[in-house]
Amino acid sequence: MFSRKTVISTLAAVGLLAAAALTLDVDIRWKDAWAQAPSPPREWSRTGPFPRHDVYYPGTEELAPDEMRVVACGTGMPQPRLAQAAACFLVELGNGDKFIFDMGEGSFERIMSLGIPLDQLDKVFLGHLHLDHAGDFPAFYFTGPVNNRLTPVRVWGPSGVKPEWGTKAWVRNMKEMWAWESATRGSAVDPRGLELEVNEFDWMAVNAAIYDENGVTVRALPAIHGDQSVSFVLSWKGLRFAFSSDTLPNKWWLEHTKGVDLSVHECFIPPAYMMARYGMAPSEAVFVGTQGHTAAQAFGKMMSMTRPRRAVCYHFQNDFDTVMVVENAIRETYDGPLDLASDFMVWNVTEEGIRTRMGVPNHDSYPAPPQRQKQPPDSMKAYQWTAFSLSGIEPESAAVTNAVIEAFNEENGVDVKPSLTGLPFQERP
Ligand SMILES: [Zn+2]
Ligand SMILES: [Zn+2]
Repeated sequence: MFSRKTVISTLAAVGLLAAAALTLDVDIRWKDAWAQAPSPPREWSRTGPFPRHDVYYPGTEELAPDEMRVVACGTGMPQPRLAQAAACFLVELGNGDKFIFDMGEGSFERIMSLGIPLDQLDKVFLGHLHLDHAGDFPAFYFTGPVNNRLTPVRVWGPSGVKPEWGTKAWVRNMKEMWAWESATRGSAVDPRGLELEVNEFDWMAVNAAIYDENGVTVRALPAIHGDQSVSFVLSWKGLRFAFSSDTLPNKWWLEHTKGVDLSVHECFIPPAYMMARYGMAPSEAVFVGTQGHTAAQAFGKMMSMTRPRRAVCYHFQNDFDTVMVVENAIRETYDGPLDLASDFMVWNVTEEGIRTRMGVPNHDSYPAPPQRQKQPPDSMKAYQWTAFSLSGIEPESAAVTNAVIEAFNEENGVDVKPSLTGLPFQERP
């Protein structure tokens, strides 16, 4: 028989252990924040700015020359939801380079909310061509010119099991699908941002350097996800960022991501949840949650074997009632540093440490101003309107529109001609 005292002290010890395990991550961050707070004064000003911020305000912090910042611009699923866009991670480096890894649906508006000039976001790496990893690329690419992009876009993506499934064919077909869009859009605004460089690489090449410029190397690893999928590892100044895109845990990831600084790997909620939330059949839920993707326990196992400085899981519905389910499942197999990603989670990575915060985006953002002189095409010459459309312009409202343009010209000391509403009176077909 245990004495009452023994039982109480045993319970207290178990409680303390549990509390220590639960607060490990939090403690580390609290210490970081504490170290950054000024000391003294002990009492903060009642009118000045509060001295400690645990959030990231985009566009307000300079990157150190040896610092990497990663912003989650999409951590969710193919099923659209307001809280989480589909896969997208932005990597910013202290040398000024910026890289986008995957661009799932909904991620473009997250990227735009950061206020970064699109001229600086010219490098996109697609791990595979599912819509939840590439669906917003057409929006990003084709609306570039109306969002002040004046530099070409460069995209990297895997080859196909069949040539017509590869990235080159995907881009060619995308351009064909949006032929009218680019013809009409490009005739009204500076079309330089519609230039596109496609870099297709062998999806089966292991650890092949597919990008090597300015001290930055991006290597591709084969992924196991419907074939012709890849993962990426970016290296710069001794820092390494690994991004799985979609994959089952595999030997290539195990061999080439050991000890990386930030290991961003997909991870799913348990199949039972997918049955309950999506109405999936058992076979469907098990396939999607454990064969087409990585089960949370398998994610944990891979992180235990690769031991990154910080593990990040994404690609699940990060909700009040799923987050502990996923974390507990991961903790069955992994006890290291871990973040369960949600949109606008931000990581600042240096040799000294990794700081995780939530970003506070601008919900009413405008595109950053153009960084170079714009050269809009002559819209009258660039695109020939049909006589049918021109014949439909209503004269009385056209006169009102022309007066608006006249007032604009006077106010701004310019002489812009109404290209369509001026026509009916001069060249009525
Ligand atoms: Zn996928
Ligand atoms: Zn996916």
